[in-house]
Amino acid sequence: MTDTLLEIEDLHVDFQVDRAIVRAVDGLSLSVAAGERVGIVGESGSGKSATALSVMRLIEKPGTVRAKVMRFHGTDLLTLSRRQLDDVRGAGIAMVFQDPLTALDPVFTVGQQIVEVIHRHQPDVTKTEARSRAKRLLVEVGLPDPDRCLRSYAHQLSGGIRQRSMIASALAADPLLLIADEPTTALDVTVQAQIIDLLARLADERGMAVILITHDLGVLAGFTQRVVVMYAGRAVEVADVQSLFRNPRHPYTVALLGSVTRLDRPLERDLPAIPGAPPNLARLPPGCPFAPRCAYAQDDCRVDRPELRPVGRSVVACHHPMGDGS
Ligand code: ADP
Ligand code: MG
Repeated sequence: MTDTLLEIEDLHVDFQVDRAIVRAVDGLSLSVAAGERVGIVGESGSGKSATALSVMRLIEKPGTVRAKVMRFHGTDLLTLSRRQLDDVRGAGIAMVFQDPLTALDPVFTVGQQIVEVIHRHQPDVTKTEARSRAKRLLVEVGLPDPDRCLRSYAHQLSGGIRQRSMIASALAADPLLLIADEPTTALDVTVQAQIIDLLARLADERGMAVILITHDLGVLAGFTQRVVVMYAGRAVEVADVQSLFRNPRHPYTVALLGSVTRLDRPLERDLPAIPGAPPNLARLPPGCPFAPRCAYAQDDCRVDRPELRPVGRSVVACHHPMGDGS
């Protein structure tokens, strides 16, 4: 039996904007087993960050979060008190963001921040011990000069080193689940590949589960076992990574595959973008939200919204999945 770490069923995240309700996440279900690596992929605005932030209970008012189930290690995340929440954040679930400059505090050194995280979760650790642990963490994330990094402020470091420091800080409380939200988007391709390799190694060594969020399927190729493709706040395809690459079923997944970055090759500029724009989440069209951009859409696609169902080795929300003969 697999040990389920994170369990989300029918998650909704709404934002009231002017008179309209933006349905950022619109009925997403997701589970992550202990030690599992799951990728969430989708274009900008598909609800990836809103999903991650709702797990960390970081959606701020007037945003609202509701779900049938939202449990971490059996604990209901939706009803946690402030204190219980502090315990879950860090030691249970830690998060790494796209831009460490906004996540690392500019007025404290990297060392001070990591020491702070260690102390918050283990108040009895001495200052010297906390500092030497911080140094070990910086070595663990592959920094060649950990002492210098401990003394530095975030703005003094390069993007790649900053992101590694951010990862070290996220690991400081030894989380069971790391949520990395576009952790490499701001970095150049070579550094991206290094950071993804680092996350894979750390996950293996620590038996840590990871949710890796990206708009770029290429990043997930060597990293995750399972991929959730999101469009307009919902999962539209879920599959193991090989099946998804070899036999994508949703036309949107096919389109995403057409615009991947290959981490093992130099960056090809001007990759084909998916034609058309993502839908307005405050006013979704009837039927499949991808239909207006879909080369394969038929009349029924503009009427009924497809539900997830198994097709081949995928689970797909599409009336006419690819390679299904229908
Ligand atoms: P992604 O991370 O996939 O790019 P997000 O989860 O950030 O997408 O956003 C999903 C949708 O929710 C977008 O349409 C975005 O504009 C909207 N949204 C996110 N945060 C807020 C907010 N605080 N207020 C209003 N709308 C928001
Ligand atoms: Mg985002």
